[in-house]
Amino acid sequence: MPRLAYAIARNRFQIALASATLRTQAPAIENLSNRISNWWQDVGRIGELLRESILRAAPKQRTSHSKKRMRASNKGLKNKKDIVPCRSCGRSKLSAHICPHCYKDIRTTMKSLTS
Ligand SMILES: [Zn+2]
Repeated sequence: MPRLAYAIARNRFQIALASATLRTQAPAIENLSNRISNWWQDVGRIGELLRESILRAAPKQRTSHSKKRMRASNKGLKNKKDIVPCRSCGRSKLSAHICPHCYKDIRTTMKSLTS
């Protein structure tokens, strides 16, 4: 009988120890499992997004030559209308822009003064 009582007591002690360990480590394990499941959800979402974007990016019909040329008709070079003579050197420059020739002169002078 004493052996049985000892075995029962040991068993109860082991159960108590196991439950205490579980209680202390359960939040960490739960947190880890939550993070893993969230990560898997993210992976699934990324895959879905990639699939969706690739499928949506595919054109449904061929663009005809006429449609292509009509779209490109206003992509060509246009004549500049805002070219004015520079006030200090007289060369042509874009209005509301600094004259590149005068800017170069100023830069070289400033460099020679600072060095
Ligand atoms: Zn100038």
